[in-house]
Amino acid sequence: MTKKVRVIGAGLAGSEAAIYLAEKGHKVELIEMRPKYKTGAHTSDYPAELVCSNSLGSIDILSASGLLKQEATILGSTLFNIAKKCSVPSGNSLSIDRFGFCKEVKKIIDSKENIKIINEKYEKIDTSVPTIIATGPLSANELAKNIKEEFGEDNFHFFDAIAPIVEKSSINFDKAFWASRWDKGSADFINCPFDKEQYENFYNILINAQKAELHDFEAQYFEGCMPIEVMASRGIDTLRFGPMKPVGLFDKRIKTEFKKNQFYAVVQLRQDDKLANLYNLVGFQTNLKWGEQKKLIQSIPGLENASIVRYGVMHANTFINSPKILNKTLNTKKYENIFFAGQLTGVEGYCESISTGLFAAINMDRYLKQKDMIKLDNTTILGALIDYITFENHKKFQPINSNWGIIKELDEDKKKLKKDKNLKNQLRSKRALEEIKKIKQIIEE
Ligand SMILES: Cc1cc2nc3c(=O)[nH]c(=O)nc-3n(C[C@H](O)[C@H](O)[C@H](O)COP(=O)(O)OP(=O)(O)OC[C@H]3O[C@@H](n4cnc5c(N)ncnc54)[C@H](O)[C@@H]3O)c2cc1C
Repeated sequence: MTKKVRVIGAGLAGSEAAIYLAEKGHKVELIEMRPKYKTGAHTSDYPAELVCSNSLGSIDILSASGLLKQEATILGSTLFNIAKKCSVPSGNSLSIDRFGFCKEVKKIIDSKENIKIINEKYEKIDTSVPTIIATGPLSANELAKNIKEEFGEDNFHFFDAIAPIVEKSSINFDKAFWASRWDKGSADFINCPFDKEQYENFYNILINAQKAELHDFEAQYFEGCMPIEVMASRGIDTLRFGPMKPVGLFDKRIKTEFKKNQFYAVVQLRQDDKLANLYNLVGFQTNLKWGEQKKLIQSIPGLENASIVRYGVMHANTFINSPKILNKTLNTKKYENIFFAGQLTGVEGYCESISTGLFAAINMDRYLKQKDMIKLDNTTILGALIDYITFENHKKFQPINSNWGIIKELDEDKKKLKKDKNLKNQLRSKRALEEIKKIKQIIEE
């Protein structure tokens, strides 16, 4: 029997989900507010519009982004196939003719008799109809308000103010050391210590660095948010009395009297993921351009060769507190038939949005057919992303894109793999694709 299902938002995640469900024989209502209402970033009336860059990132399956595309393609993505058809030359990455792409997506949606497009603003979640909500980083306010009512005031965010995240394996522990302030609790923080000269060098890079521009629609969100560059503009010592304060932090490898400050300033890093591969710079939210951030981070003692998996950003970004709200199957803990997908779940990026749109649709199809829903292993990059956004013990949940730091460690010899990054990525990729092919078989049974 054909079942009615709703998909809210004909963006990247919503279009992918609607097409998948239609192809599985369901009657889909695709509710999209454009062109009646605008988001501030979309410029056309087309579905699946890329709001900024026309690049979907690397196609190399030895990169996390390339692997994600390959996994989603195996699982049945329509949008990645269209993207390949609409690609423009750009070396080892997938860049596309943006309007060629969304016109093609529209053509496919229009060709499906069982997709009904409704151009309205969806304002209140109707739990009597199985629904995938994929309204993206610029979801309309009325729906945002209703999500807060349904899932809790604290479980909804309007912007990212993210501190950079680095891979622990790239930190130089000859300089950095483990400690907690005044030895309280276990020594969970990684500390990067500065002398006066190093701090002054860091400060000079910071105050001369260029900032990224905010869009007009974003400015409203950032009152009351204090990026490090704003703190630094208030005086050379402001950071030393704020997030870089050195008091109570001692490197026990150095003989000293543990009452005085051992260092002039300290940057602390806190565990960011379940596997403890990733660490974020505490209190370092920033809106500096990425090249400037790299220069600044690599001027921190111990982070000279830091591999930065996530730069700091400050931008408008509506996202739910997925660790509290969602299951690993992307439906909500509160309502089994209500799913979220796309950037609204706290994944970040075009490919991540398409892939979670597909995965929510796979599970929605299974829900409608009363089959067990699929949970992905974190040996796959899509599984690792979902694992990250649903991990309940984040100190402060912030969105994430695909990166190697979130995937499960390999069982092979760590020392050997540390030297051979290429081999490491080959093994990760092989393991992930084998797992995804097994999942594909289950889906087809
Ligand atoms: C300004 C900006 C620039 C970005 N640049 C990049 C980039 O260069 N590269 C990258 O990888 N990622 C980028 N992103 C992040 C992200 O990948 C994209 O926003 C992506 O489009 C998200 O996909 P989505 O399907 O979740 O949401 P969207 O593609 O935004 O789709 C959501 C859809 O829902 C509709 N909608 C919203 N509210 C309602 C409602 N209440 N009722 C009905 N319809 C509604 C919207 O009109 C929209 O069509 C950017 C984000 C922003 C905001």
